[in-house]
Amino acid sequence: SPDWIERLGQRLGWLRPAAAVHALDGVDLAVAQGEVVGLVGESGCGKSTLGRIAVGLHAPTRGTRLWRGTDVDALPEAERRRVQLGIQMIFQDPYASLNPRMRVRDLLAEAPRVHGLISRAEQAGFVAGLLRQVGLDPAMAERFPHQFSGGQRARVGIARALAVKPGFLVCDEAVAALDVSIQAQVLNLFMRLREQLGLTCLFISHDLGVVRHLSDRVAVMYLGRIVENAPVADIFARPAHPYTQGLLAEVPTLKVEKKRFLAIRGELPSPLAPPPGCHFHPRCPHAFDRCRHEAPRLREVAPDHASACHLHD
Ligand code: SF4
Ligand code: MG
Repeated sequence: SPDWIERLGQRLGWLRPAAAVHALDGVDLAVAQGEVVGLVGESGCGKSTLGRIAVGLHAPTRGTRLWRGTDVDALPEAERRRVQLGIQMIFQDPYASLNPRMRVRDLLAEAPRVHGLISRAEQAGFVAGLLRQVGLDPAMAERFPHQFSGGQRARVGIARALAVKPGFLVCDEAVAALDVSIQAQVLNLFMRLREQLGLTCLFISHDLGVVRHLSDRVAVMYLGRIVENAPVADIFARPAHPYTQGLLAEVPTLKVEKKRFLAIRGELPSPLAPPPGCHFHPRCPHAFDRCRHEAPRLREVAPDHASACHLHD
């Protein structure tokens, strides 16, 4: 049966088991209007899965997706599609997410045209405006994606997401594939757009340094759970969770501050078989007996600052 083939494939490592794709555990995350929340953690911790659930690309096995208090997936189909248009994703690999056979003008105008946001007559001016907004020459509208550099493609990816005037944006490692200097340029663009457009955004990155200047708050994930959630200044000045402290120790630009904390030991365990109790205990410099069998709950340790660690007791 196909089931049997799938099991065999998984055993041989051809297919990723479905459990790995849905490895989130009791995650509860809110993004307020006009707020940018940085979601950080090592790759494989479930950040992308959470982002994909937020934009509706994955259905969660349990739980709901609320948009301004409404369960999006319970809406009548036409209404759901209308709301869904306002929820956009900027992908990890801008090249893979752009159709190579479409000119940039069509890539940018497609969704707004289909949804009746612009007319054919308005298209050229609309595309030129979008390109200018992301710092590209409007003449580039005639080009194909392969004629752009990595940084330019990242800008096109951002322009395409902005084309439908989204109310909520998820950026998944939007700059991770770029050289450091280009990364800085795209992050600056992002900060400028954020100011101009008042973006509401979940910004996913494995790099705390990347989310630092961009986010209002930061949520830290470890193996499918959020272990800390606080305003960005508190995360950097008073990280409460040993995992966050370890991540801070690894940010190369924080030379002075990082001396306070120990770096994280070892590898991220498989999300398929997370360690019992606190998932972080095999790597935690402060682990004690209770950590090995009891999962700590996320709770407020200071005003507006939540952390999940037994040390807070
Ligand atoms: Fe470390 Fe224990 Fe806290 Fe987990 S609960 S972070 S293992 S001290
Ligand atoms: Mg990812």
